[in-house]
Amino acid sequence: MTEHLQIAIDGPAGAGKSTVARKLADKLGYLYIDTGAMYRASTWLALKHGLSLHDGPGIAALARRTEILLAAADETSDGKIRVYVDGEEITRDIRTQKMSEQVIPVAALKEVREVLVEKQKELARQGNAVLDGRDIGTVVLPKAGLKIFLTASAEVRAGRRLKELNAQGENPDFEELLAQIKDRDHKDRTREVSPLTMADDAIEVSTDNLSIDQVVDKLLVLAEGAKRSAV
Ligand code: C5P
Repeated sequence: MTEHLQIAIDGPAGAGKSTVARKLADKLGYLYIDTGAMYRASTWLALKHGLSLHDGPGIAALARRTEILLAAADETSDGKIRVYVDGEEITRDIRTQKMSEQVIPVAALKEVREVLVEKQKELARQGNAVLDGRDIGTVVLPKAGLKIFLTASAEVRAGRRLKELNAQGENPDFEELLAQIKDRDHKDRTREVSPLTMADDAIEVSTDNLSIDQVVDKLLVLAEGAKRSAV
C-alpha cells in the first residue's frame, strides 16, 4: 500500500493560504481541509448556544458532538469551501469581519484545540490531503510529506482583505484592517496553546509579489518533488 501524501500549509492571516490550498488540492485531486473554518464553526456553535467564548470545556463538548462538514466551494460561496454544522449551512455567517474577531479567543482554548486537532487528523487519514491553518506542520501533521509556510507583508494582506470584504458588501477602513491584521498576528504568535510558528522542516514562500496562480504553480512543483521522494 502506498502512503498518503499530506501537505501542510501554515502561515499568518491573509497570506492567501485558503485560496492557494484549495486550488492546489483541486489540481492534485486531493482532499482540502480548511482548519480555520472548523475554528470558525465552533465559534458559531458557541454563539448559537449562548456560551461564553472563553468556555473551553463547554465549546469543546459542543464541537465534539457536532458534525462539522466541509464541502466543495461553488459559485455561491465566493470560492470559499461550504461549511455545515449538523446539516445547517453556515458558509457566509462564519466569514464576517465580526466572526474573524470572535474566533480569536476560541482558537486559544486548549480543550477546543484538542477536539478539532483530533477531527483534523482523522480527516487527513482518509487519503491524500492538503490542510491549511496555523499549526498543521507543527501539531496536526508533524510528519506531513510537504510543509509550506506562506507569508506576505501586513500591508499586502490588509489590501487583500479589504478587496474580499468589499466584494461581500462590507466597507472597512484600510488602516483599521491593517491594525487588526497586526493584532491578530501578534495574538496568533504569542498565544499559549499552539502559537503560530514555522516548523523546522517547512519551506517558506512569500506571496507578496506573486499572483495566486504563480504561488500554486510553485507549490505544485514542490508537491511533485515530495511525491517522488515518498515512493
Ligand atoms: O484561517 P482563518 O482566518 O479562517 O482562521 C480562523 C481563526 O482560527 C484564526 O484566528 C486562527 O488563528 C485560528 N486558527 C488556528 N489554528 C488553525 C487554523 C485557524 O488557531 N489550524
